[in-house]
Amino acid sequence: MGGNQLEEIVDPLIEWYRNNGRSLPWRKDRDPYRVWVSEIMLQQTRVETVIPYFERFVKRFPDIASLAASEDEELFKLWEGLGYYSRALNMKKAAQIICARYQGTFPEKFEEIMDLPGIGSYTAGAISSIAFEQAKAAVDGNVLRVITRLTENSWDISDVKFRRQVAELLEQIYPLKGKGDFTQSLMELGAVICVPNGEPRCGDCPLAFFCGAYHSGMQMQYPVKKKKIVRKIEQKTVLILRIRDIEDRVAIRKREDGGVLARMWEFPNLEGILTRQEILQWLSNKNVTVKEMSGYGTQEQQIKHIFTHIEWHMTYWIVDCETVGEDNGFIWVTAQQLENEIALPTAFKKVYKKIP
Ligand code: SF4
Repeated sequence: MGGNQLEEIVDPLIEWYRNNGRSLPWRKDRDPYRVWVSEIMLQQTRVETVIPYFERFVKRFPDIASLAASEDEELFKLWEGLGYYSRALNMKKAAQIICARYQGTFPEKFEEIMDLPGIGSYTAGAISSIAFEQAKAAVDGNVLRVITRLTENSWDISDVKFRRQVAELLEQIYPLKGKGDFTQSLMELGAVICVPNGEPRCGDCPLAFFCGAYHSGMQMQYPVKKKKIVRKIEQKTVLILRIRDIEDRVAIRKREDGGVLARMWEFPNLEGILTRQEILQWLSNKNVTVKEMSGYGTQEQQIKHIFTHIEWHMTYWIVDCETVGEDNGFIWVTAQQLENEIALPTAFKKVYKKIP
């Protein structure tokens, strides 16, 4: 990559950003807490979607101390719809660490920020530059797209070495003043001008004068990305256990501490595709006797849910229970409680919706 000719982009880009940047709620000040919350929410979620979530979140948890003291249940409820709940849990853990280690004040050193749960080099770079005016780059897909187009670089952008190299190059050209604006201007250009889907808006781009891909008409050849990851498929048998009395109730339970959807609520479920006999056996071990059950397991009936690295293919059974023992880890809730009080992950909501 042609070293620091990139320096030429700094002033025009910052000027463009100061005149054209969108006014977003987290840009109103440079409080590291608010920058942090917004950056975590913006991971894999669009700006328009994040705005109401951000506003609700900082209203309820206005600072690090209130987040550190939050209840999981309330936190998940505020996060519901953003997905990847581990991000919310990690934020809470990080807030607790900040309270214990730094008396509730957000640390300023890049290494200390990186050390917090759920914060990688991108988020640490964003917080360091935006909130603390440090020359630290925040390199994500948007920034990589802009840089590879500007410099016509066909390196695979999923290669972390390349990301690091781009970060280093950018860090050499951070201006003396306006470091936060430089980070934000790159993000903004990638979001609204050098867009991820479809043709870039080169006619409105303040960097067109410099852009290699624009001059050669090869914008759509960049960035170069390796083929998508192959997800691991996990088969599951999900049980909607129902008691039908005055008010119908269904069984939920808490997931374990680690792995996907840690500590979230779920419907009881088992690995693999189980037969009726195997399910009855499992239920009998849990002191549940069955009145009636119907299974939905054909290819068309299976419900799929996709996480980053895993795909769940869920067969499900609706089981009307005769008697239910205690101490089996189940909690019985009404439809109303499920709707209003329980943050049920989308994977299970998809199954719930199928109940006639
Ligand atoms: S000129 Fe076009 S391709 Fe180049 S950075 Fe600007 S929008 Fe992207």
